[in-house]
Amino acid sequence: MKTVYAVTRGCTKCGWCAHECQVGAITVDRDGAHIDPNKCTGCGCCYDNCASEAIEKRIITPA
Ligand code: SF4
Ligand code: SF4
Repeated sequence: MKTVYAVTRGCTKCGWCAHECQVGAITVDRDGAHIDPNKCTGCGCCYDNCASEAIEKRIITPA
């Protein structure tokens, strides 16, 4: 089982998640925030701190 985080349409591009992410996995451009799954450690900090609740938590269960 793996937890992944994804940015949804509710993103206001405030940039806070990118500021909070300790491993630099988040970039914000004009389309919103993007999480690089190769850098993300799954700490959940962005999910916990997005004021717009725009980050979604998904539990992936291997088939
Ligand atoms: S903290 Fe939330 S609203 Fe702000 S840029 Fe990140 S995902 Fe978007
Ligand atoms: S879960 Fe943690 S490591 Fe992954 S993008 Fe969010 S703040 Fe960064």
